[in-house]
Amino acid sequence: MPAALLLAAYAVLVILPVALGWARVGPARPWMDELSSALAMAGFAALLLEFLLSGRFSAISGGIGIDRTMRWHQAFARVLTVALLAHPFLYDYAAFRFAPPIPAQDLAAADPARAAVLGLTGGSAATGWIAWLMLFCLTGLAIFRRATPYTYEGWRVMHGLTAAAVALTGLLHALEAGRYSADAPLAAYWGVLTAVALFTLVEVYILRPRRLARRPWRIAAVTPAAERSWEVTLTPAGHDGLAFTPGQFAWLRLACSPHAVREHPFSIASAPGEPEGRLRFLIKEAGDFTSTIGSLPVGAPAYVDGPHGVLVTEGRAAPGIAMLAGGIGLAPMLSMLRAARTARDSRPMLLLYGNRHAGQILAREELAELARALPLEVVHVLSEPPPGWAGATGMLSRDLVRARCAEAARAGWIFVLCGPPAMLREARVGLAALGVPGSRILEERFVYD
Ligand SMILES: Cc1cc2nc3c(=O)[nH]c(=O)nc-3n(C[C@H](O)[C@H](O)[C@H](O)COP(=O)(O)OP(=O)(O)OC[C@H]3O[C@@H](n4cnc5c(N)ncnc54)[C@H](O)[C@@H]3O)c2cc1C
Repeated sequence: MPAALLLAAYAVLVILPVALGWARVGPARPWMDELSSALAMAGFAALLLEFLLSGRFSAISGGIGIDRTMRWHQAFARVLTVALLAHPFLYDYAAFRFAPPIPAQDLAAADPARAAVLGLTGGSAATGWIAWLMLFCLTGLAIFRRATPYTYEGWRVMHGLTAAAVALTGLLHALEAGRYSADAPLAAYWGVLTAVALFTLVEVYILRPRRLARRPWRIAAVTPAAERSWEVTLTPAGHDGLAFTPGQFAWLRLACSPHAVREHPFSIASAPGEPEGRLRFLIKEAGDFTSTIGSLPVGAPAYVDGPHGVLVTEGRAAPGIAMLAGGIGLAPMLSMLRAARTARDSRPMLLLYGNRHAGQILAREELAELARALPLEVVHVLSEPPPGWAGATGMLSRDLVRARCAEAARAGWIFVLCGPPAMLREARVGLAALGVPGSRILEERFVYD
């Protein structure tokens, strides 16, 4: 689904409950009360849609890419959190009848249109405040995750469970306390949206792993690729492998159960159609899991959830391709270059490849071979070059990009970027200065946050 269509569908689903409420019950209260209800309803709808955004569904992220989907997930979460946390403080409580509290069973009779009474009986007030507190913690912990002692996996499980608890308590609160949500069509809307949201958890944690278990892989080899980087080769066990396009990535569960929470995204570095359907990945030691890659047992099972990602040049009618890679960001480019060699692609190509020092350069000899087999120029850039280094030096900075990519920019090439965030920023600034439009830039970030 293209981004514009996705955003339009999202906006409709978020605004629908407000429109439905006003159309059926009508805004008859002071505007601050209406604003509060509107924020609550739009915020709650957005919260339920967050489950879909984070569930890695190809219908959603297939068109815009997982990393953009996750950035939307994070941005929308911040906005909806502010809306939901603010809404209880906007009501003009003095105008409502609270004292003495109206028993829940009398509430509907006392004020059928709920114009003068907020449905804040003991139960709905409790669900409201519990949801409020949990949402505060949910978003706060997600924003400051790196400052917490939790592992990524531990945090992820906690994030999913807390989000489910916020959805359920939020639903109970909306149905009982909401002026509009008690109305049957809106109550049905909340029921359906909550069910869909919770189903995404069942899909992600139960159904999808079951499907993966039916297509197992084996770890065929783990070999050193460069300093603190490894090449991991997987072969399909009893099936025909994975159809993918160069530049895509997969979530891997290595030497563990298909149901394990421990899964990590890695770009496929091999070209499609390698012998025995094998897949190769280049993995850099970056944290608690990747630091153990070198000791993965050969022959152990692996599970591959993919392909994902839109860092794909195939099918794009560009006169040339410039690849700007930093460190392990070479992985998807290597897949593209290997596929280009197989396809005898005759388009001119440029690879600007930045590393700190020579020991970190991945596939150095193969890149040299590729440069001989293809119309490809490989430019190694080192910030700490060894004595006698003949390649470029310094960072893969905006100035270097401007200097090396000017001709490619003029000729209308496409640019593929993958590397650390600082390098990506520099590359974008450099390309913008050369007048390269965003539509000719493809980018993959290896982190979501
Ligand atoms: C689309 C994509 C493609 C990637 N391709 C490669 C590649 O080809 N080679 C490579 O070496 N690295 C790649 N990475 C990065 C790799 O996924 C992380 O380095 C790895 O997951 C870190 O795990 P860890 O437990 O060792 O480190 P941790 O210290 O646990 O995590 C370090 C950071 O990695 C991210 N991360 C950790 N676990 C996950 C997860 N399960 N899902 C998403 N993000 C996570 C988080 O931002 C975390 O803060 C890619 C990342 C993405 C998003």
